Amino acid sequence: MSWSQIIGQQRIKSVLQRVITDGRIAHAYMFWGPQGIGKDALALEFAKAVNCPNSIKMDGEYIACDECDSCRRARSLQHPNIKFITALPAGKGEDRKSRSPLAKLSDEQLKQVQDQLAQKAANPYHRIAIPNANAIRIAAIREIKQGVALSGTGKGRRFYIVSNAENMNQEAANAFLKTLEEPSPDVTIVLTTSRRDQMLQTIRSRCQDVRCAVLSDDEIADALRDNTTETISDENARLIARLANGSYTRALSLTGDDFSEIRGEVVDFFRAMLKRRNYVLDLYAQIEHIAGDKDRKRVEQMLTLLLLWLRDAFALSASGNTDAVVNIDQVAPMQRFVENFPGADLLAASMKVEEALRYLKQNVQIHLTLTRLALEMRSIFIRKVSRAA
Ligand SMILES: [Zn+2]
Repeated sequence: MSWSQIIGQQRIKSVLQRVITDGRIAHAYMFWGPQGIGKDALALEFAKAVNCPNSIKMDGEYIACDECDSCRRARSLQHPNIKFITALPAGKGEDRKSRSPLAKLSDEQLKQVQDQLAQKAANPYHRIAIPNANAIRIAAIREIKQGVALSGTGKGRRFYIVSNAENMNQEAANAFLKTLEEPSPDVTIVLTTSRRDQMLQTIRSRCQDVRCAVLSDDEIADALRDNTTETISDENARLIARLANGSYTRALSLTGDDFSEIRGEVVDFFRAMLKRRNYVLDLYAQIEHIAGDKDRKRVEQMLTLLLLWLRDAFALSASGNTDAVVNIDQVAPMQRFVENFPGADLLAASMKVEEALRYLKQNVQIHLTLTRLALEMRSIFIRKVSRAA
C-alpha cells in the first residue's frame, strides 16, 4: 500500500500529508464514513508515512519510501510503533484484570486472529471477521493506556489505530476516554468508525474529525480492474461498482468467477418464493441447494444482491424510470415483477432481508434463516396480491 494505492479520498490524503509536512500531527483523530471506503487503509498509510525514515517530501506531498525496514514492518502490521486494535472474542476465564486481550484466547482463536490480521495486512480493505469477536474490551484499552504512558523510543511516532471503534463496550469506552484526556507528545490515536453516532460525545469531541468520502462508481470500477487478481470484464466491473454503493470492501465481496452464478441463484430463490401454487417443494429445494455447502459468506452475498434487487424494484415502481435501476441487466424482469406485484410492500421486504443478514452475522443457522425469510417474504407479496384481486 502507498498513498497512490488508496482508492479515491484525494482530499483526505492531501490533508494528512500536509499535516505531516507542517509537523502538526494531532493526538487523536476520528476517521469516519460508511463501511468499506478505506478508513483503516488511510490510518495505516498515515502511520507508515510518519514513521518512514526515508520518506519523500515534495510540493506538500509526504510519501513513505515503501522499501525500508520500517515500511516493510508497517505493511505487515508488525511495526513496533503501530498497533492495530480490533474487536476480539472473549477469552475463557477472562476477567476485568486480564492484562492482554489475547492472554486467555485458545490456540484456535489465536490462529483465527493471526489469520485475519495477515489478511488485513495483505489488503487493508479486508473486513476483519473473527468468530464471536463482538467487542473491543477493557484489556485492549488497558494495553493502549500502558503504551501511551511509556516514554517512546525516540524513533518515530507511536500510533494506536482502533478499527471500528464503535465496538468498544461501555467499560472500554470510559477507560479510553481517560487515555484521550492524558495525551502523550509522541503518540497519535486514530479511531475509525462507520457508526460515529454510536460513539460517546466526550470521545468525539477530543478527536480531530476526519470525514471520509463515499467512493464513486468509477473509482471502484478502476480499482477492481487494477487490483484484483482475477480478470474482470469492464461490464462486470461497472455493474459490481454500482451494486457496491460506494464501498470497495463490498465490491470485493462481489468479485469472483461465480458472480453471475450467484445472481442466477438469487433470482431462482426469489422466483421459487413467489410461486403462487405448489411452491413448497420448489422453495425447499432452492433452500437446500443454497444452504447445502454451508458457505455463510456466499449466502450473505446472495442476500446483499437480493436487497439491491428489491431496492431497484422499489425505485422503478416509485418513479417508473429505468435510469434509477442499478442492476442494469435486470430491467426487463424487474419491470415484469413490478407489474405482477403491484402495491407490494418492497420496503417491508427489504427490511426482512436486512434482518436475515443480521441473523447470519450472528451465526444463526443458514437453513433456518432462509426458510424464515422466504415465508415472511411470501406473506408480504402473496397476501398483498390476493387482497388486490
Ligand atoms: Zn520507508
